[in-house]
Amino acid sequence: MNLPDITILDEKEKILRKKSEEVQFPLSNEDKKKIEDMITYLKMSQIDEYREKYDLRAGMGLSYIQIGIPKRIFVVVDETEPGRFQSYTIINPEIVSKSEELIYVGEGEGCLSINRETEGIVPRNARMTISAYDTEGNPFTIRVREDLSVAFQHEIDHLNGILFTDKIDPKNPYKNANKMREI
Ligand code: ZN
Repeated sequence: MNLPDITILDEKEKILRKKSEEVQFPLSNEDKKKIEDMITYLKMSQIDEYREKYDLRAGMGLSYIQIGIPKRIFVVVDETEPGRFQSYTIINPEIVSKSEELIYVGEGEGCLSINRETEGIVPRNARMTISAYDTEGNPFTIRVREDLSVAFQHEIDHLNGILFTDKIDPKNPYKNANKMREI
């Protein structure tokens, strides 16, 4: 596998604060190629051999705005069992419902645009149903839970110009941890 030629923007780039715009269909071939590249990049970042070879940080999700394009598209790649990957391409997502139960990632969330140590936890809904469109413009709904639910919420935040660090209280980075379930 060759590493796709994509540049992921750092948090200091102001465009990451922009609200991304609805995507119009059909997608251009260029967009379809970029989506494939993002999925390949994430997959490679999760495979030890490539992560070391290309000096990558492991990432589960990536939104279009992180490569500098303010369109409401994100991808998530989930390693369901060792060496097996399930990828999701989500376009124009809308949240249909969210669980009341909150969870947080105990080791903290990460983001390929945040290249520094961070401390603290982010409350996320344990389960969520969203509606979205695939790359051909077909609508679908998907229900996600646990780490996938966290990843989807993290990426939807990107589409609205929000970074996970915005959701951590610097004075009390583990606020309300006792009211949520750690994953
Ligand atoms: Zn991120």
